[in-house]
Amino acid sequence: MMKLYLSCDMEGTAGVCSWDQCDPKNVTEYPIYRRWMSREVRAAIEGARLAEPCDVLVNDSHSQMHNLLFDELPDDIRVLSGYRKAYSMVQGGDEGFDGAFFTGYHAGIGVERAVLAHTYSPNVLYSVRINGVEFDEALLNAAYLGEFGVPVLLVTGDDAVCNAVRRHLPWAEFAQVKRSIDYYSADSLTPAAAIALIAETARTAVERRGQARPFRVEGPVTLEIESASVECADYIALVPGFARSGGRSLRFTAPTYVPAFQALIAAMRIGRSAAERA
Ligand SMILES: [Zn+2]
Repeated sequence: MMKLYLSCDMEGTAGVCSWDQCDPKNVTEYPIYRRWMSREVRAAIEGARLAEPCDVLVNDSHSQMHNLLFDELPDDIRVLSGYRKAYSMVQGGDEGFDGAFFTGYHAGIGVERAVLAHTYSPNVLYSVRINGVEFDEALLNAAYLGEFGVPVLLVTGDDAVCNAVRRHLPWAEFAQVKRSIDYYSADSLTPAAAIALIAETARTAVERRGQARPFRVEGPVTLEIESASVECADYIALVPGFARSGGRSLRFTAPTYVPAFQALIAAMRIGRSAAERA
């Protein structure tokens, strides 16, 4: 039986084009879109299972990380929910999976014409580079899974994330559920059409999984962070191993990718508390 890991975000869900729609505090919009997010996850799993039987672990990876509606999901999967998880969007990804799906994903911070584009915490992270290349959430997470030999098979979201990830993971399959017009607008499929596309693409992704490769970053790995503010950088710089390379710039080098990823998560958490108003 294939072991499938699924990390689901929300901003790349069909129809989503504003923060209100994916903000758990919003009592009118969010309940609608969390349902569509859940149904897209279900479609990806059902599509995969048309190709072969799959044992599935889903990691709820958006905001407070308890978005998924369990009654919209298949009965026989495991779901990681709750905030926080130390490994965030790739929690549990080291458990020996054969492949990974990223659903509802979005482009990285700074990308033009990309709905709700950001990288993890935009109040802390203005830019993230690995060995000199700008990495978005999909690439950061793919590289973590790659260290454990897990290839990314499927990415769903807007055209911006699909195009950006395709350049680095050409073996993956992409279900583009919307075309971003700008940061707050998109030309989207309906939820029903998106679900059909995701299921079909997931099936293809699993059928072709023999061609997929883990995304590996060669060591030594240099993480460069441009933080959103000097006060964030003041505290991130206290972490042993981080070198301050400018008012808002920090650098961390490790022999392999996992410690660099761990440093990024730690920096983000520390930066978040520094970003709170004194
Ligand atoms: Zn999100």
